[in-house]
Amino acid sequence: MKIACFPVNMFEVNTYVVWNENSHEAAIIDPGMSKPSEQNRINEFISGHHLSVVALINTHLHIDHTLGNDYVSQHYNVKTQANNADAPLGIMRSEQAARFHLRIPEPTPLHIEHNLENGNRIYLGNEYLIVLTVPGHSPGSIALYSPESKFVITGDALFNGSIGRTDLFGGNQEILLDSIRKKLFSLPDDTKVYPGHGPSTTIGREKMFNPFF
Ligand SMILES: [Zn+2]
Repeated sequence: MKIACFPVNMFEVNTYVVWNENSHEAAIIDPGMSKPSEQNRINEFISGHHLSVVALINTHLHIDHTLGNDYVSQHYNVKTQANNADAPLGIMRSEQAARFHLRIPEPTPLHIEHNLENGNRIYLGNEYLIVLTVPGHSPGSIALYSPESKFVITGDALFNGSIGRTDLFGGNQEILLDSIRKKLFSLPDDTKVYPGHGPSTTIGREKMFNPFF
């Protein structure tokens, strides 16, 4: 499984494209694209690598991670996959935009069309990502783990040297710390961590140096 990172929008969200090199099937994860230049960058990457987008996945439904959902859904004819515990956040997208004073057209409610639960596998050809529920930053936060390629996409649960904020709707720091300890720090130390914002890291490095642990 290959992975590419595209930092987008005013929040510098990491939008990821993950693909199978043999089948050329791809997933777009956390589409944060907020304008045509960002959409084009990712479209050009996808066509340049002859990929076929078969999945649209959100690690959680905070507004900054969903700004490109409608576009990707329509452009690639794929449905939003996420954990149902974040469904209220999808409904509240315009309230979220107002809270962050976003100067964007009023976002419509975003509906989860396929619920992802802990242990589910998302296949791209014969390779897959395993869904790990990691609530705390939001109730329905998930991570996506590739055991074969030794990486995990952590959304806003775990960052390089930090963890996600827990002052937004449904956030809870105790639950977040517990999620990270049980679901992420149990992965092999050499697992590469691709967070929702900022640079990548590894599980081993975060276990050793992350100040929250
Ligand atoms: Zn978030």
